Amino acid sequence: MSMVTTLPTVGKGREPARTFDLARARGDFPILREKVHGKPLVYLDNAASTQKPRVVIDAISHYYETTHANVHRGVHHLSQAATQAFEDARVTVQNFLNAHCLREIIFTRGATEAINLVAHCFSQAYLQPGDEVLISWMEHHSNIVPWQMACQQRGATLKVVPVTEAGELRMDEFEKLLSPRTKMVAMGHVSNSLGTVNPVKRIIERAHQAGAAVLIDGAQAAPHLRIDVQELDCDFYVFSGHKVYGPTGIGALFGKSRWLELIPPYQGGGDMIRTVRFEKTTYNELPYKFEAGTPNIAGAVGLAAALSYMEEIGIDAITAHEDELLRHATERLQAIPEVRLIGTASEKASVLSFLVDGIAALDVGTRLDLEGIAVRTGHHCCMPLMERLGIEGTARASFAMYNTLAEVDFFADVLEKIVRDKSGRKTHAMSELSVVNGKREIVYPEAAAANPEAAAEEVAELFEFLDDWPQRYNYLIELGESRPAMPEEFKVECNRVHGCQSTVFLHCRRKPGTTNVVEFLADSNTDLVSGLLVLLQRLFSGQSADKIVAFDVEAFFKRIGLDSHLTSGRRNGLAEMVKRVRAFASEVAQNERTPITTRK
Ligand code: PMP
Repeated sequence: MSMVTTLPTVGKGREPARTFDLARARGDFPILREKVHGKPLVYLDNAASTQKPRVVIDAISHYYETTHANVHRGVHHLSQAATQAFEDARVTVQNFLNAHCLREIIFTRGATEAINLVAHCFSQAYLQPGDEVLISWMEHHSNIVPWQMACQQRGATLKVVPVTEAGELRMDEFEKLLSPRTKMVAMGHVSNSLGTVNPVKRIIERAHQAGAAVLIDGAQAAPHLRIDVQELDCDFYVFSGHKVYGPTGIGALFGKSRWLELIPPYQGGGDMIRTVRFEKTTYNELPYKFEAGTPNIAGAVGLAAALSYMEEIGIDAITAHEDELLRHATERLQAIPEVRLIGTASEKASVLSFLVDGIAALDVGTRLDLEGIAVRTGHHCCMPLMERLGIEGTARASFAMYNTLAEVDFFADVLEKIVRDKSGRKTHAMSELSVVNGKREIVYPEAAAANPEAAAEEVAELFEFLDDWPQRYNYLIELGESRPAMPEEFKVECNRVHGCQSTVFLHCRRKPGTTNVVEFLADSNTDLVSGLLVLLQRLFSGQSADKIVAFDVEAFFKRIGLDSHLTSGRRNGLAEMVKRVRAFASEVAQNERTPITTRK
């Protein structure tokens, strides 16, 4: 099979102008007809992963129903058909990126694996002690950690280009950091957390002048912009299938064949070899040298269907439509005084990160979800950037071809209502302090019932009374809002409970004047987690240690549905909080059985 394929006429400037058919696009995505909490789904988490059109779902099914066998090795009909489908998919990726030849397209699990491949293989061949790798402050962890590892292994240094408050690359600093020691510049094309479109053409040009190779992380660019690796002249370009309407577990690496010939293979195994002898193995030609083992054939077929679909809809038309969504969303959110946009670069694509005064991002996300709106909250795998901006994370709405202006308006309306409702409600009391006889006294929650079983019964009845999960979520959020804040002196590391997706403190003590009653104060910076903490206080605070230890809290969570309705992150967080209370209670129970004074 010849590895050089003539390109059909796709690519920058070659696409005829096309009007965007939004109704058609929406109709093509079956999941958009789903309801969430009884409301129509408004999916604004596209930067994390896009939904799949019918053609992609069908292509994968069709492949498995009619074509599947292992590729490259068989002489029988199905193996040849599967190989053809897999190699046709490579041609589609080549065309999508406008790569010069098929040898330059390596299938990977996604952008992460592609970056790891380059970081590992390039550094083995070309990084020496004293060399430098240049990345930026706004990189996704996937474009930080592999380089950190490579630099550690090779004795090289990782240099980081700073960003401005608006989330733009400091090109002046980039120029200063570039030097003859720079062997690799690895930059994101579009920032996943801020939406900034980086001036990659200029970066590539300048890096090449300095003698460095360039990898562009296109995970967030490929869904929104037309990519032309020949025009960009980058040495490596990576993207993930699941962000371009394709399946998960597949992505691609473009590498100039000159580099791919020079660097060693990544993994060893079948397909990547020409001959294997115990004395010496020789490697296969490109691209197979980098594709050890049975590849994700169905994934490649699905990815090709997705890319063809994007071409058919019109990539330039998609870009224009998403620009309009972003512009409108930006205007709407800018008009809400309590909302602060994070990332205000002049060139942006499809991502709107924001914070709301007085409401944790996690709570904003939960409240939006109750209305069927999916956004992402957190650090978006960009911890260094969040630290640079002095924030823990953001809420992020990100748009795709199938989103509508009406959805943007609905999202902004709901956000406005969340802000209004919050400011209309009483928030946390100052602290769990009361002043008794002129003395400051900290008040721990009393027992809510005679024992944890009775307290649990009351909570369960209340949950049954509430009709559905949106109501129960709202109840938990309101419970959290009414929780009195914890005195500041208790917010110390030894009281911190990690792994709760928010900052949680829990301070337990044995109730003074008792031998075995446990009571505790708790705090979280998010309302939903605070609500869960109040729930725990109702179950356990003021109860005897042995009863706390004996109570089957997991069965109770199951009974009220928390096991299936909380996200896995929150479930894990809740388990950590329970663990903390139980550990303290068993210590108290143990001490009561064997007081320290009588222990040998
Ligand atoms: N880079 C960027 C900019 C991303 O947004 C992501 C995914 N969020 C990745 C790399 C990693 O992609 P994947 O998880 O699909 O490998």
